[in-house]
Amino acid sequence: MKLQEIKNIDVAGKKVFIRCDFNVPVDDFQNITDDRRIRSALNTIRYCIDNDCAVILASHFGRPKGGEFEEKYSLKPIAKRLHTLLKIDIKMASGIVDDETLSMAKELKSGEIMLLENLRFEKGETKNDEALSAKLASMAEIYVNDAFGVSHRAHSSVEGIAKHFDIEHKAAGFLLAKEIEFFHHIVHNPQRPFVSVVGGSKVSGKLEALYNLVPKVDKILIGGGMAFTFLKALGEEVGNSLVEDDLIPEALKIMAQAKELGVKLYLPVDVVAAEAFNSEAFAKVVTTKEIPTGWMGLDIGPASCTLFEEALADAHTILWNGPMGVYEMDKFAKGSFKISHAIAASYATTVVGGGDTADLVRMTGDEESMTFISTGGGASLELIEGKILPGVKALVIE
Ligand code: AMP
Repeated sequence: MKLQEIKNIDVAGKKVFIRCDFNVPVDDFQNITDDRRIRSALNTIRYCIDNDCAVILASHFGRPKGGEFEEKYSLKPIAKRLHTLLKIDIKMASGIVDDETLSMAKELKSGEIMLLENLRFEKGETKNDEALSAKLASMAEIYVNDAFGVSHRAHSSVEGIAKHFDIEHKAAGFLLAKEIEFFHHIVHNPQRPFVSVVGGSKVSGKLEALYNLVPKVDKILIGGGMAFTFLKALGEEVGNSLVEDDLIPEALKIMAQAKELGVKLYLPVDVVAAEAFNSEAFAKVVTTKEIPTGWMGLDIGPASCTLFEEALADAHTILWNGPMGVYEMDKFAKGSFKISHAIAASYATTVVGGGDTADLVRMTGDEESMTFISTGGGASLELIEGKILPGVKALVIE
C-alpha cells in the first residue's frame, strides 16, 4: 500500500483544506487541558504556510447535537491556541459551509489561515452527506487529511470530500502518514521478540484486535478489566470484577489459538481488589485465586508487575494499548505506572496507542521515552485489526 503524501504533491501557492483532529480535552471552563493533538498538526500547517498556501483548517470537537451552533462545542478556544502556537493570525469562521464562510474561504490569501467551526454542527458530517462533502471540497484546490483519529470514520470531511480531488490534489499530512507508517511497520515487519500489552476495560472493544495480534506477536500480556474474562474462562473466581460472560468462549478461543501458535499469553497472577468501585474503598492485594466473593479487581498486583516486567525484558518491539487498572484513581494506578515505566525503560521500539493509554503515559512522565504515541485510539485498533481505514483508502496511490 502506497499512500499519497503531502511532500509528493505540488501545494505551492495553492488553497489547501486540511482536515485536522483538534478534538482535545477541555475542563468545565473550556480551558484546553492537553493540546497534544493541536501541536501534532503544526508540522503540516507550517509546511503549507512555508509553501505560500492559503490554509483552511477543519475539525470536529466533542459531541454536539448537530444541526445548530453550540457555544460549548465552538472551535474558538482552538483558534486561540493555534494562534499562540503558530504566532499567525487565525481567521475564525462563524460557520462551516454557509455563504459567509464560503466567501471568507474564497477571499483567503496566500499565507493566511482560517478555521471552520465544528464540523459536527453540520448534521451531514457523520452521515458522509454528499452535498456537504461537495461544499467543503469547493473551498480548496488541495485536500489534506491529517486527522488520524477520525480516519476510521467514513465522514464527509474525511471520506466524501476526498472523492472530489484527483490523486495529484489530495494527500496525507505528515501526522497521518507517520501514524500509518508506524502501525504498518509494527504489524507487518516488527523486530522480534514482539510483545503486545493489552488492557483497558472490555474484551469486546478489542476482540478483533486480539484475534489479529495473536498470530503476529511472540508474547501477549493481558491486564486491566479485560483480564477477568480470561481468568474466569480458566475457572478462576473473580468476584465482582468486570467480566463479559458472553465472551468467555472467545477468550478460550484466543488462548487456544495462542497455544497452538506457540505465542506466550500472560495473565495477571495477583490483583489489587476492592470492596467497591471507588477510591475510598478498602483495598488489598490478593492472588487471582483468592479474590474474595463480592470484591472486584481494579489493578494488577505487584507479582503481576514483576511477571510482566520480566516478560517485557527481551522485547525488541512493544505495542501497548489499554491501562492495567483503573488508573484514574491513585489507589489503582500503580500497575499501569509500573508497566509504563518498564516499557519506557526498554530498548525496544515502543508504540503506544489509544486515548487512555496516551493520557496515562503523560501522567507517568514517560511520554518522551516512548518511540511513538498514537493520537488515535479507535483508528489504531482498526489498523491492528488489518482494516484499511476509509480516510486512508481515499489517499492510496493505485
Ligand atoms: P479502554 O477504553 O477499553 O482502553 O479502557 C480504559 C478504561 O479501562 C479506563 O478508564 C480504566 O479505568 C478501565 N479499567 C482498567 N482496568 C479496569 C478494571 N480492572 N476494572 C474496571 N475498569 C478498568
